[in-house]
Amino acid sequence: ASVALLGPAEVRDLAAMLDLTPTKKLGQNFVIDANTVRKIVRAARVEAGDVVVEIGPGLGSLTFGLLEAGAAVVAVEIDRRLAAQLPLTAAQLAPEASLTVVHDDALRVLELPSEPSRLVANLPYNVSVPVLLHFLEHFPSIRSGVVMVQAEVGHRLAAAPGSKVYGSPSVKAAWYGDWRIAGQVSRQVFWPVPNVDSVLVGFDRVGSGLDSEELRVRTFEIVDAAFGQRRKMLRQALSTVLGDSQEATRILTAAGVDPMARGEQLTVHDFLAVARATS
Ligand code: SAM
Repeated sequence: ASVALLGPAEVRDLAAMLDLTPTKKLGQNFVIDANTVRKIVRAARVEAGDVVVEIGPGLGSLTFGLLEAGAAVVAVEIDRRLAAQLPLTAAQLAPEASLTVVHDDALRVLELPSEPSRLVANLPYNVSVPVLLHFLEHFPSIRSGVVMVQAEVGHRLAAAPGSKVYGSPSVKAAWYGDWRIAGQVSRQVFWPVPNVDSVLVGFDRVGSGLDSEELRVRTFEIVDAAFGQRRKMLRQALSTVLGDSQEATRILTAAGVDPMARGEQLTVHDFLAVARATS
C-alpha cells in the first residue's frame, strides 16, 4: 500500500493547523525524520499483516511507518485533538491502510479492538515504564516490541544483575521477557528537541509470564522493598515485607538466596523464589 511519511514540514503544518503547542506534561516530542521511523519499524521486525499496538501516536510519525510496512495498527492516544486528527491525516496519507485510533489514557486501557502481537511506540517519557508494564500485564497477546525511551530508562530496562543501573524496573521488565538495547536516537530527530537522549529498547516475551498474578504482585512488592533500600543487605531491606530480620533470614535461606546479599545481585528468578518461600 502506498503510504506517505511525515517530515519536518508536515509535522509543523499539522501542529499549526491544530493550533497545538506540544506539552511537556504529555511528553509531546514528535519525530520529524522518516529514516528514524523506518529504523524503529525495522528494529521491531514488523511484517505485513501484523497487528501492532502503538501508544501515543501523536501526529502519526511512527504510525505511518507501521502502516507502510503493512501492519494493522491500533493506536492509543490521550490527547483528544491528536486522537481526532489522526484518522483524518490517515485518510489522506494512507487511504487503504488499517488504523484504529482509541482515545484513552494508555495507563488505564484494559481492552483493545483487536489483539496485538507487537507493541511499537515512541513512549511519553514521564510514564514510559508504568505504561510498558501495564501493557505487558494486561495484553498477553503482545509477544514482542520496540519502544523509544529516554536513554537512562532504556539502560535500566535492559540492565543485568550487578550493573549499576539494575533496579526495580529491570527486574519487573525481566518478569515478562528478554530486553536489549536496539539502537541510539539523536535528539535532533524530534520537534521540539528534548533535553535528553533516547534509545530504542527491544523485548521478546518469554513464556506466558513467570507465574500467577498473585505471585507476581508479591514478587513486585519484594522487589520494591529490596531496591527501596538498595544499600542494605536483603535480610534488613526485606524485614518490612517478610517479617523481622530473623524471619527474613529464614525465608531468604529457604529460597536459596544469601541473606547478606543486596537486591542488585538477584535475578528475577531469585526474587520469585523468595516470593514463593513466603507462602
Ligand atoms: N508517536 C509520536 C511520534 O513518534 O512522533 C508521538 C510521540 S510523543 C513522545 C508521546 C505521545 O504520547 C504524545 O502524542 C502524547 O500526547 C501521548 N501520550 C502522553 N501520555 C499518554 C497516555 N497516558 N496515554 C496515551 N497517550 C499518551
